[in-house]
Amino acid sequence: MDAAFATTSQEYFYGASILAGFIVLLLIGSLILPEPRPVLAGSGQRHSSNGLKLFILTLGLVALGNALGWISLAALPKYVFALFVSANGFAFALTLLMFLRGQRRARTEHVGRGGRSTGVLRDLFFGTELNPSFAGVDLKVFSYRPSLIGLALINLSFAATQVEIYGSISTPMVLYQVFTLGYVLNYFQFEEGMLNTWDVRSERFGWMLIWGDFVLVPFFYSLPGWFLVHRTETIPVWGVVALTALYLFGFWLFRGANEQKHRFKSDPATRIWGKPAETIGGCLLVSGFWGLGRHLNYTGELAIYLAFTLTTGFDSLLPYALPAWLTLLLVHRAWRDDRHCHAKYGQLWTLYTGRVRFRMVPFLY
Ligand code: NDP
Repeated sequence: MDAAFATTSQEYFYGASILAGFIVLLLIGSLILPEPRPVLAGSGQRHSSNGLKLFILTLGLVALGNALGWISLAALPKYVFALFVSANGFAFALTLLMFLRGQRRARTEHVGRGGRSTGVLRDLFFGTELNPSFAGVDLKVFSYRPSLIGLALINLSFAATQVEIYGSISTPMVLYQVFTLGYVLNYFQFEEGMLNTWDVRSERFGWMLIWGDFVLVPFFYSLPGWFLVHRTETIPVWGVVALTALYLFGFWLFRGANEQKHRFKSDPATRIWGKPAETIGGCLLVSGFWGLGRHLNYTGELAIYLAFTLTTGFDSLLPYALPAWLTLLLVHRAWRDDRHCHAKYGQLWTLYTGRVRFRMVPFLY
């Protein structure tokens, strides 16, 4: 009993230490790594553009540490519960800190909340400040870094565990690693595009985003990986081709739509699919993907997550909780964003929705 308790306490201690060290190192890395160019986020805050370097450097150091035996990626799953508890503690503490900071700044510096306050609980949930920063780093944009690099590391730990147990890596695991690493790598290649997303431009930094970044994404979005550790059978060639096609199709939609919108917001005179961007009122894009559906970027992301999950086969339906959850989240989000855009663009939005009738699946929804 004592021994079990001691082990658990030790795991919690390791979990909290790993988490704290990871976040602090990423923050330091964000501050000191060279930046290709200065970028302004949200309300004019400086945002470091060195995410890709940070991601590659972190993965490189972890791979080196693992090869030299200083750390063990295969041991990570053992600490996942302790890490999960620590990440929750951190997310709740940061939420409270952001709330108190927002209150103080509103009182003493008359800094706008980026939205109206309708009570303490609502302010805790949705946040008080739009773009809080620390040491000149936009915290909202920074938080995607521990979130997605953490996700990549947890995913890689499943492959390391499989190799440790079975001595080799299975085809489904290889596919899963390629798909998920490609997704995170592409996020960092396109990190600047995040500055034109709804979360960064319009959502305040409260529990919803903080918990999403530090808990939901790394721990829940890695769900399929758990089911692959002991899946040693292979996938037929046609299955590999079909899953890869689904993944690439999703990527084409997801990245294509996000990239077109980002390019348009940065330069309204840009060309989309070889032609000058067509707009409604100069602010709403109706060319390219944005003329086919109002949220094809969401549809593409769903296809990508479905491809991740299909690598697990159908022995258990539990990993499908991930694409199912994301479907609910993005369908609700598409509806919420429509309301937000209607309030912001008024008649122009009505014209846009009249012309682009479907949200996520042309002719269906
Ligand atoms: P979008 O990138 O689609 O941004 C929506 C905003 O874009 C609107 O609020 C509006 O903002 C602007 N906009 C909408 N239509 C047009 C148009 N036709 N022309 C020009 N601007 C337009 O959504 P999100 O920010 O929600 O998502 C960004 C990415 O993040 C998506 O790919 C999504 O899949 C992904 N995501 C992933 C999640 C996950 O958990 N994996 C969760 C949430 C999002 P404005 O007021 O600035 O004009």
